[in-house]
Amino acid sequence: MRTLNAPWMSDEHKLFADSVARFIDEECVPHEARWAQEGEVDKELWTKAGEAGLMGAGIDEEYGGFGGDYGFDAIIAYQQGYTNTLSWGVLLQSILKHYVSAFGTEEQKRKWLPGMISGELIPAIAMTEPGTGSDLQAVRTKAVQDGNEYVLNGSKIFITNGQQANFVIVVAKTDPEKGSSGISLIALETDGLEGFKRGTNLDKIGMKGQDTSELFFEDVRVPMTNVLGMEEGKGFYQLMQQLPWERLGIGFWALGAIDRAIDETLTYVQNRKAFGGRLMDLQNTRFKLAECQTKADVTRAFLDRGMEQVNLGELTASDASKAKWWATQVQCEVIDECLQLHGGYGFMSEYPIAKLYTDARAQKIYGGANEVMKELIARTMDAGG
Ligand SMILES: Cc1cc2nc3c(=O)[nH]c(=O)nc-3n(C[C@H](O)[C@H](O)[C@H](O)COP(=O)(O)OP(=O)(O)OC[C@H]3O[C@@H](n4cnc5c(N)ncnc54)[C@H](O)[C@@H]3O)c2cc1C
Repeated sequence: MRTLNAPWMSDEHKLFADSVARFIDEECVPHEARWAQEGEVDKELWTKAGEAGLMGAGIDEEYGGFGGDYGFDAIIAYQQGYTNTLSWGVLLQSILKHYVSAFGTEEQKRKWLPGMISGELIPAIAMTEPGTGSDLQAVRTKAVQDGNEYVLNGSKIFITNGQQANFVIVVAKTDPEKGSSGISLIALETDGLEGFKRGTNLDKIGMKGQDTSELFFEDVRVPMTNVLGMEEGKGFYQLMQQLPWERLGIGFWALGAIDRAIDETLTYVQNRKAFGGRLMDLQNTRFKLAECQTKADVTRAFLDRGMEQVNLGELTASDASKAKWWATQVQCEVIDECLQLHGGYGFMSEYPIAKLYTDARAQKIYGGANEVMKELIARTMDAGG
């Protein structure tokens, strides 16, 4: 089983990578096909991962974590990509624990971080709405103050972990008159929360074992102390601060899937016979695989640089955007070429390349559509324009 092997990895990272690989092999790989049919993972997976000590990276021990850098979570993302087991929405846990850790008050950190790390709090972030996705400033979900509570109304769509989450950070307008400075992040503990409803589990063309849902808020009352950082109007800034890691993490997911696609295809073309030889002996096959490997290695180098930067707090929005659009674009291109080299077998669900193909497509859309990534990059090139 291949695990991530990167220049920034210490002995501790390597040991962690072995534990992650073991965990995913035992707890995810055998169940992935069933989860795809059921539309969600077994809920106990979260607490099992908590017990195995996998979800505490980057968080101080006093809040239940084990410290360390973003590399530990990149190892999980890569391994999920490589093993073709994207059903478990654990990248959301990695993203959201950093929101709470970076911006939460002391009380919020003590209240929410231990549960997120033990797997008892299953996290989701609810930004996208039926009427707006890329244009986050246009969100219409409103939180209106009433005494020392907010009353939340609105709806969200395409929310990962939407069926299972019991800790949802909602992007809401606390001041609808203002654009980005009217946005706040409001945490909801949803167990028994009146007015909070989930839509059906959405039927997707890929990532079928990952639950994705609409969420509805109808006069949901939430204490004002649940605004992240207890600071109204800081939501947009908080999102922007955390997006670099989210985008790099998506890149490591992509890299795992790219490596798996190449490994699968190499084995396939070395064994498949055509025209009196192996598919691997045809020049087109050799050139295509050489191109795929080159793209994989170029992507790897950029992601590794991004990892060093994110750990220093120096990954710029622009470089994170480059990592996200490039890695996911390469993922889709490489997997498409690899599927082609499988011929008709590549289109059959029993071959891993087919699932890699359908699961890859959403990567160019969420975490910021790739066109939005390019716009962010262009803005830094045209700063005075
Ligand atoms: C599987 C899956 C999981 C998701 N998980 C979550 C989640 O957990 N939480 C959450 O909040 N959201 C989630 N999303 C939603 C996702 O983030 C949005 O779909 C995405 O941001 C795009 O928003 P939209 O769908 O409204 O598309 P739109 O904003 O309507 O954009 C449509 C297309 O227009 C183009 N476009 C948009 N803006 C620009 C621009 N500025 N310049 C050039 N072209 C542009 C792009 O091609 C884009 O794909 C998920 C989506 C999927 C598919």
